[in-house]
Amino acid sequence: VTLLKASRADVVRFMRYVVVLPCGCWLWVGARSRGGGKNGQKVWYGSFWFVDLATGKRKTVRAHRFADEVLKKRECPPGHDRDHNCELSLCVNPDCVEIVTKAINQERKVERRRSRDTSGLDRALEMYDAQ
Ligand SMILES: [Zn+2]
Repeated sequence: VTLLKASRADVVRFMRYVVVLPCGCWLWVGARSRGGGKNGQKVWYGSFWFVDLATGKRKTVRAHRFADEVLKKRECPPGHDRDHNCELSLCVNPDCVEIVTKAINQERKVERRRSRDTSGLDRALEMYDAQ
């Protein structure tokens, strides 16, 4: 496994698609693609093309992977996943991401689904029902 290598200019271009939220998350507002989740639970991930300095060719990868490998120089070994501790799949801040085994990632997904905050839905329905 070798880390992705990109130019500084591509890092600057990457950050043009990022909105830094008050919580510290880096919300990706560029291109997206759906995928990843098991049991049909597909989620949105950022997608970014850059010039891979290893080959000189354009390459498209998930945005959070680009940030993790190019900025933090951290690789994801086989059998592992990048887990978003912030639970925001469109967040690309490497500080929100942890490399864990696929088994642990799956366990956490199930646990988070079980304890999901539904206050947003409650509030939306309250507004809707108010008229
Ligand atoms: Zn985050």
